[in-house]
Amino acid sequence: MKVSIVGAGNVGATAALMVIAKDLADVVLVDIAEGVPQGKALDIMEAAPLIGTDKKIIGTNDNSEIKNSGIVVITAGFPRKPGMDREDLINKNVTIINSICDNIKKYAPNAIVIVVTNPLDIMSYAALKATGFNKERVIGMAGVLDSTRFRSFIAEKTGKSVKDIETMTLGAHGDSMVPILEETKIEGKKISGVMDSENIDRLVERTRKGGGEFLPLLNTSAWIAPAFSIVEMVEAIIKDSKKVLPCSVLLEGEYGYNGIYLGVPTKLGKNGVEGVIEIELSDETKKALDKSAEITKKNIEIIK
Ligand code: NAD
Repeated sequence: MKVSIVGAGNVGATAALMVIAKDLADVVLVDIAEGVPQGKALDIMEAAPLIGTDKKIIGTNDNSEIKNSGIVVITAGFPRKPGMDREDLINKNVTIINSICDNIKKYAPNAIVIVVTNPLDIMSYAALKATGFNKERVIGMAGVLDSTRFRSFIAEKTGKSVKDIETMTLGAHGDSMVPILEETKIEGKKISGVMDSENIDRLVERTRKGGGEFLPLLNTSAWIAPAFSIVEMVEAIIKDSKKVLPCSVLLEGEYGYNGIYLGVPTKLGKNGVEGVIEIELSDETKKALDKSAEITKKNIEIIK
């Protein structure tokens, strides 16, 4: 198995390290910046003896090196800069997604594509259109990250083990995301029976704004939890584990939505998306998911 990661910035390079550190696959790290993917790959290669893996990693500016990849992860893109509105960012990143997808079509036509570039649900839709692949092979990463953030905040607040906290965060990646409280359990008990609603609301809000918490601290967005989240999906596909993870996928009737990418519980295996799991939602949760879907639909119109 060969995994290519296009975009050797913070997220891409850390994901490359994680794929090698978990001994999952050979890695090709691609970027337009000369020297950057080569230098980062070299650093990871030199750690391989200590990791104890014979998996290979190369860094390159040559897109043809992605040939025959089983998985291509897209982590290339601009972050939002001051003065740039959402529409500008969408248009700039769609141009990048389109050019990367041309190369995927040409050199890795059988790959499963994991999109990470923001705004996530819109870029995943753009990648589906640009590759022309079937929807099972173009998957957006966001819900795994949003869910691990929510779990970590609950663990921090309650002092319970992260291993005993389950949750699922659905909807769009952004302020309208929907942490599913009816699926959120602490040591097997519903969160509503363990925490008061004020504290729950506070943690939900912190999760929704999770990405933004990093900007004043690091002047950029996060990359370690995002890279772990990517590799959770890569591992489920490589190991054909059929693990159910919240991923952004094209919906065609599931949950009552059509023609949009939205985060839903998704079974991942060697074919990519092997099913969308429709869980029962409370009226309040469904309303929140409807709102999230509406926002995504409007944003998709920008690139249609
Ligand atoms: P970064 O600026 O560190 O890295 C981006 C890299 O992309 C740069 O090295 C740049 O040279 C490269 N690049 C630009 N155009 C390219 C092209 N056409 N081909 C190859 N490489 C190209 O950014 P980052 O922090 O690594 O974040 C990357 C993307 O991931 C951003 O869009 C960010 O918003 C997104 N992100 C998404 C999530 C999520 O949950 N989905 C989480 C974190 C970050």
